[in-house]
Amino acid sequence: AKALGRNNYQHYTAEMSARTHDRLQMQEQLRQALANHEFRLVYQPQVDLATETINGVEALVRWEHPMMGLVSPAQFIPLAEETGLIVPIGDWVLHEACKQNKAWQRAGMPPLTVSVNVSAHQFLHEEWVARVAHALEESGLDPRYLELELTESLIMRDLDAAVATMKELQRMGVRLSIDDFGTGYSSLSALKHFPIVRLKIDQSFVRGLPHDEDDSAIVTGIISLARRLNLDVIAEGVETVDQLDFLLDNDCHEIQGYLFSRPLPADQLNALLRERSTW
Ligand code: C2E
Ligand code: CA
Ligand code: CA
Ligand code: CA
Repeated sequence: AKALGRNNYQHYTAEMSARTHDRLQMQEQLRQALANHEFRLVYQPQVDLATETINGVEALVRWEHPMMGLVSPAQFIPLAEETGLIVPIGDWVLHEACKQNKAWQRAGMPPLTVSVNVSAHQFLHEEWVARVAHALEESGLDPRYLELELTESLIMRDLDAAVATMKELQRMGVRLSIDDFGTGYSSLSALKHFPIVRLKIDQSFVRGLPHDEDDSAIVTGIISLARRLNLDVIAEGVETVDQLDFLLDNDCHEIQGYLFSRPLPADQLNALLRERSTW
């Protein structure tokens, strides 16, 4: 073992050790961030195309670092996932999103669904279902106003276990959806067994609308698949009127994207909801 170890050390260059140092530092900062309450949520509206109303929001995490400013999830979620820190961070996200949604309802707004992103580490954790139950209980949020966004790769890691967990959550009344649909590796035969309520079309396909023929074919294909399976379907990353028109023409149920609104802090979303809905 010792000889092997020495051999490995030969590959352990100064550059690698610098990177390891950066990662360790970042890991420590993430831990601090949790303790210091540096995470924030922003909420992006999901718009029903038939009724032109906001009927849901996706909660997206931000890290407000005292020195670095706002750090995007792309910069820290992967490390949080590798280190397992995503479990306590994700727990915070779940509790905060449920509490905020309940607060909107208490303020008399029309009820919204809040969607929360779930990573594999959280979902495969033995206490996951209990953690979701706890967040609902603590916030007082009716489970039908919570949606959990799962990815195909998360589910396919351990298909049987994932479907069992999904069924438990479904029994609790929580909504489940597949995020980034079309980019993963779940088969159509597996999809049939998922207790989900909607598919989210990945923004990489929406980007090419309406001109890219492949993207157009994929998007119309996903929409008709969803409709035939009795699932809702939402297109993500909608930025242009041309994309919106294509989605309207092809009977997509809902959209989410900068065209309608960027993700907003809760107080700014309040203002948007007041302005856009007729309550
Ligand atoms: P995602 O779940 O696919 O979220 C959608 C991303 O697209 C968000 O990026 C959102 O801000 C961005 N987006 C929305 N509309 C548009 C648009 O019209 N154009 C473009 N170009 N982008 C748009 P964000 O907030 O930076 O999040 C990136 C990813 O980080 C998310 O992708 C998700 O995978 C992950 N993430 C965010 N929050 C959480 C969280 O609380 N927990 C976990 N596990 N992952 C999270
Ligand atoms: Ca998502
Ligand atoms: Ca997505
Ligand atoms: Ca994505």
